[in-house]
Amino acid sequence: MAKTQTVDKKVLVNLKKLFTSRENDLINQGHEKTTLGTVPMGKRSNNDSSFQIADTWFEKNQIDGDITLIYEPHVVPLVRCNIWHIRGRDRDLMIDTGTGLTSLRTFAADILGAKVMAVATHVHLDHIGCHHEFDHCVVHPDEVDGLRTPSMDTNLVGETFDPHNLATLYLPNLEDKTDPEIATPMVTALPYAGFDLSSYTIRPAKGIECVSEGDVIDIGNRAFEVMHLPGHSPGSIGLWEAKTGTLFSGDAIYDGPLIDDLHHSNLTEYEATMRRLLQLPVNVVHAGHEPSFNRARLHELITEQFRTWDVAVGK
Ligand SMILES: [Zn+2]
Repeated sequence: MAKTQTVDKKVLVNLKKLFTSRENDLINQGHEKTTLGTVPMGKRSNNDSSFQIADTWFEKNQIDGDITLIYEPHVVPLVRCNIWHIRGRDRDLMIDTGTGLTSLRTFAADILGAKVMAVATHVHLDHIGCHHEFDHCVVHPDEVDGLRTPSMDTNLVGETFDPHNLATLYLPNLEDKTDPEIATPMVTALPYAGFDLSSYTIRPAKGIECVSEGDVIDIGNRAFEVMHLPGHSPGSIGLWEAKTGTLFSGDAIYDGPLIDDLHHSNLTEYEATMRRLLQLPVNVVHAGHEPSFNRARLHELITEQFRTWDVAVGK
């Protein structure tokens, strides 16, 4: 997830709770662990008629001969993730997979090769929704549980979610529902007519392989080195292609206010991650949110972040 420029510190306080697991609370309340088991039956209604039907759920922009950006225009910016498809000679990569509200695999069928590896830059809900559609997934060991057994930690749905009313599909666990930046439905349209919200959940991925710092993901004609970039989350990874100076950074860095105070964020680690990125001979960063950027912008963003953290760039 990523904040847009308009999100202020007050919102951050609310966001802090976004990925705090409510699993124990829910179990204590006698709810099932599954998402929809948490929905109180008495609150259900049938009021989704105010939502438009999306013409297309996903959009795509071809960046170059190999790389395509896919995104979900009807998902609000806060959780609208960049999904990166890289065509490879031996296999393709799908770096992050969006919210999972509808099939990424179906949308991308015309660009997918026979073998596809789905990479999880980290397991926040907006990045892993369609991993279950791919036979081979990779993730850092520090976050493998979030891919294998998604919980409320990685889910869009809060206790007040009514599967028949998209307007209740708020980000979970927010205290301040009056802020328009976050207290909006997660989506501005339904994926298709008759879309059944009650079927929606983040599903467990299969064929999971763990990758760590220094591992190389070889797709035949290109090779990407795994960089462990903790801070935003403990198992955040980036994929680095030295030959072209291309970094796929996930949420470690993007061109917008970074989120550094989730329950599992770590500022010390985040600062070290930033210092590593400053040393990287980057030509282009394709990030988890917001537009791509070059090395000069990367350095600006890190400098701004260090100012926010009140640490010296040259420390
Ligand atoms: Zn994230």
